[in-house]
Amino acid sequence: MKYYSTKDKACARAFSLREAVQAGLAPDGGLFVPERIPQADMAVAERLAGESYAALAGYLAELFFGDDIDPGLLRREMERIYDFPLPLRRVGSRYTLELFHGPTFAFKDYGAGFMGRMIGLMGGAGEKLVILTATSGDTGSAVAHGFYGVPGVEVVLLYPEGKISRLQECQMTTLGGNIHPLRVAGTFDDCQRLVKGLFADAKFRAGHRVSSANSINLLRWIPQAFYYFYGYCLWRQQTGGGRPVVVVPSGNYGNLSAGMLARRMGLPLGGFVAASNRNDVVPEFLRSGEYRPRPSVRTPANAMDVGAPSNFERMLWLCGGEPDALRDELEGFRCDDAMIRRTIDGLHRNYGYLSDPHSAIGYAASVACGKPGFYLSTAHPAKFGEVISPVTGAAVPLPPRLARLACLPRVSEPMAADLGALEQFVAGI
Ligand SMILES: *Cc1c(COP(=O)(O)O)cnc(C)c1O
Repeated sequence: MKYYSTKDKACARAFSLREAVQAGLAPDGGLFVPERIPQADMAVAERLAGESYAALAGYLAELFFGDDIDPGLLRREMERIYDFPLPLRRVGSRYTLELFHGPTFAFKDYGAGFMGRMIGLMGGAGEKLVILTATSGDTGSAVAHGFYGVPGVEVVLLYPEGKISRLQECQMTTLGGNIHPLRVAGTFDDCQRLVKGLFADAKFRAGHRVSSANSINLLRWIPQAFYYFYGYCLWRQQTGGGRPVVVVPSGNYGNLSAGMLARRMGLPLGGFVAASNRNDVVPEFLRSGEYRPRPSVRTPANAMDVGAPSNFERMLWLCGGEPDALRDELEGFRCDDAMIRRTIDGLHRNYGYLSDPHSAIGYAASVACGKPGFYLSTAHPAKFGEVISPVTGAAVPLPPRLARLACLPRVSEPMAADLGALEQFVAGI
């Protein structure tokens, strides 16, 4: 399989999987997309879903990556990455696919775990690869766990000191091994600026193999299509219904655009709801036809605080560049901060169900949409106790795996918000 940039309309320049993965973003500033979208056999998919998520994911991954990675290895690796449950649960009057039972309790584990292990399988070249990621919390922990112990790969995580939750810091700083967390004296924007600065330094890059594990990376994007198939199969089993509408709590729209990819692979979904917080660039576009990216505002669902969603470009590409086609496939929903809290409260009081703020937006959108289907739950409530507790009046219990982390020694290096210091650190690994 070859890959092209979304901006390369004439398909003039093809990239190999290895090139596309290492570059992350195409040289022309576009996003990588596959040369063709492989078709899944739904009878095979339903049979494999009956076995395990890993079996289904192995089949779907082979459709994309079977030429680049040995299919036997690919399937075996899926068993190691996806060794946690993925339940479709009834919540109140709706259904939800709980994507938060992975190693870091957020749906980003599906993409980051896949990317880490695939990079390991693609390895070969022998030369050390440094993966750099700036994080405001969740991405860093998912990437750290996804790449932990991958031979030939060192991971450098930059996070703003004192500006992420203790739990998030524990998830990044208690692994050791090939994971190198840097606590930067500055803000998240400083961290991002440092990473961008290093990538822009051609002289430094010529001497060091560096890459990023950004959410736009192909190897994080494509595997997110696979759980839509699984959710669909569980939905069919549990309800007998067909063509579910899937509600996706969205920020950068990697998750939702992966659902659109699944649909084009032959998955019979009824459409999607783009559920946003006050950062409602996409719902606004669906309503008005005007796309106006802008700076983000802070909300209780902070992983969705994105004002200029990177994957909008991929969504348009999937619709053949036709904004009207995109507006036919998606409904929009906007949830303000008060509604997020009201929904968390209602779910807890009426059904005894604890919901994190992102998933609560999914529930509210699912109720508002009213069509048969399910919503995606993107994070475990234990990760957002500081939002939930003031609403419910009770502490959110930590799963034992998270509670244990809090007792482990945290190890990170202090780092000035200075490009020279970062480059020296990376060169010294
Ligand atoms: C990243 C994230 C989202 C948004 O997903 P996108 O793919 O960026 O749209 C939603 N919820 C949680 C908990 C997340 O971590």
